[in-house]
Amino acid sequence: MTATSIPELSSPEMASAPVEACLLGQPLSALTEWVVAHGQPAYRGKQLHGWLYQQGARSLQDITVFPKAWRQQMAGVTIGRSTLYHRTVASDGTVKYLLQLADGQIIEAVGMPTAKRLTVCVSSQVGCPMACDFCATGKGGFIRNLHTHEIVDQVLTVQDDFGQRVSHIVFMGMGEPLLNTDNVVAAIRCLNQDVGISQRSMTLSTVGIAERIRKLAEAQLQVTLAVSLHASNQTQRLQLIPSAKAYPLEALLEECRDYVKLTGRRVTFEYILLAGLNDQPENAIELAHHLRGFQSHVNLIPYNPIDEADYQRPSEASIRDFVNQLEGRHIAVSVRYSRGLEENAACGQLRASKVMVTPAT
Ligand code: SAH
Repeated sequence: MTATSIPELSSPEMASAPVEACLLGQPLSALTEWVVAHGQPAYRGKQLHGWLYQQGARSLQDITVFPKAWRQQMAGVTIGRSTLYHRTVASDGTVKYLLQLADGQIIEAVGMPTAKRLTVCVSSQVGCPMACDFCATGKGGFIRNLHTHEIVDQVLTVQDDFGQRVSHIVFMGMGEPLLNTDNVVAAIRCLNQDVGISQRSMTLSTVGIAERIRKLAEAQLQVTLAVSLHASNQTQRLQLIPSAKAYPLEALLEECRDYVKLTGRRVTFEYILLAGLNDQPENAIELAHHLRGFQSHVNLIPYNPIDEADYQRPSEASIRDFVNQLEGRHIAVSVRYSRGLEENAACGQLRASKVMVTPAT
């Protein structure tokens, strides 16, 4: 661990994890307290905040408005930025990054530009413990949760690389965000208040962890909740998602209904289309039945083939049929075509191809 401990920073998160404390991820109030505690006037807190979140400073030495002698005195303090391990650019402009963290772990982040947007797909964990059968990250095992600053860093890294402000964020990279709820919520607040990205432009995707969707509702965020349903009945979901055993489909849908009641926000249901498995008309009919009267939207994701599983991607015609079945039953539906498809598009695939992944036991 190379991040320097700054135990006197006052946020609750710091108190619980002083070893990982670093400047990135801290609000203006904590940064101001920190500069004052190190003998600088309070206005330096605002300067530090601007350099961290707007100017992309990677080290205190970059912050040239600070006195040189003080910067030298603070030479051991780490801001908390990752280093670039690998970068690939797809023909549609999608850029995939492997980023190395202070402890040497590698995570994926993706930048997806369109005419008006720059969307970043961020990771919330190193690896993932959920082990969904179609997911490359799940096949690689779980290492650890990401800290708040490691999530914020991914967005700043893409922003710096594109030289353009990030407009949208999706928590759809490696990991299960609701197994790391405190750091994910803190990162959402930081990205909103400190980096300046609207919460309404952020989507958090979860496979569903019991009671955590309720906890998320209590955080009163304005982000969109996306739930990875992927099956129209419990038997089929269980084949794809091991955690469905402990947290059955009905219980998940019930918690989602409560989320809609508590927040007034609609839920997006993600549904991977696997040829011959869950893409049949009866699946669409069953799905529509579950979602009747539910303030929701279905996002169909044609499967991106991964080496470790032998599911098939459905034909365009059967994707269309599935859409028609849902639309015919008044279910709002869209199809998400993955960006950067030609190289390792699926979640966790790039990392799996470039890094020797040794899952923790
Ligand atoms: N743990 C979160 C985030 C995971 S990644 C979740 O489960 O929602 C975001 C989305 O990509 C999820 O819906 C996930 O199921 C999907 N995904 C993973 N592997 C995929 C693949 N090979 N093809 C298509 N979608 C995939």
